[in-house]
Amino acid sequence: MAAATRLISRLTLVTGGGSGIGRSVCQRFASEGASVVVADISEESANETLGSLSSDLRGQGHMAAVVDVSSKESVKKLVASIQTRYFQPPSVCVNAAGITQDDFLLNMEEDQFDKVIQVNLKGSFLVTQAVAQALVACGAPKGSIVTVGSIVGKVGNIGQANYASSKAGVEGLTRTAAKELSRFGIRCNCVLPGFISTPMTDKVPEKVISKFPTLPHTFFLSSLCRPPEVADVCAFLASDDSRYITGARIEVTGGLFIG
Ligand code: NAP
Repeated sequence: MAAATRLISRLTLVTGGGSGIGRSVCQRFASEGASVVVADISEESANETLGSLSSDLRGQGHMAAVVDVSSKESVKKLVASIQTRYFQPPSVCVNAAGITQDDFLLNMEEDQFDKVIQVNLKGSFLVTQAVAQALVACGAPKGSIVTVGSIVGKVGNIGQANYASSKAGVEGLTRTAAKELSRFGIRCNCVLPGFISTPMTDKVPEKVISKFPTLPHTFFLSSLCRPPEVADVCAFLASDDSRYITGARIEVTGGLFIG
């Protein structure tokens, strides 16, 4: 099927849809014909994304929703509200909500570690579980869950003991979910971006960013990728073009840290 229509009649949920990579995924999904639930902790940014979505393809209807992915109650409410509105759970889910709270290991407070794990790792678990439970309960024939990890989960990063741990964790979560859910036709994969220009990376000082391409053992296409490069891969993983791929991680780094 042509790329422009391959998500027609798919109901998709994107957490962290109010900004950066999540917003770009919402826009890409909508442009391919999906109905998109833009979920974010910020109502304002979720609505802003909603306003940017195209809806000129058959049967599309988007909605914005507020969710705190680190709260089981909030995630349950989100999935229930989707089912009330669309009479079905989302068959595609992208876990893009995430935070950083950087500090050197020697200085990092317990609270900084806990908070990042709660949103990035536990949040991905809660959303994956709730969506999978809803899909299994209604006997849906297939599903695709994509979690946005990070290359940092593989190689580590100075000042990000909490973040790197959370991103390594979502890879284990994804592979385990893939094994358990394949018998229900639900595929689970991870995308590992490198350094993508978003509000999250706006916080990284320029002197740190300028060091990325010159690190040893790297072959790097350009200094910073943009969210659409990650959204392209999410759309592939959401679609039937990737129907035989599960439990995989795809690096979207421009070649940063190959091998
Ligand atoms: P971003 O622009 O900050 O977007 C993240 C979104 O998630 C924000 O709208 C944020 O809202 C929302 N969010 C935060 N906590 C939440 C919660 N508890 N529940 C629901 N939504 C919440 O960051 P991004 O760069 O697009 O990152 C998206 C994903 O890609 C993250 O998982 C990140 O770790 C991953 N990633 C990013 C890069 C990169 O270089 N940018 C690289 C590798 C991986 P607020 O703004 O209100 O907090």
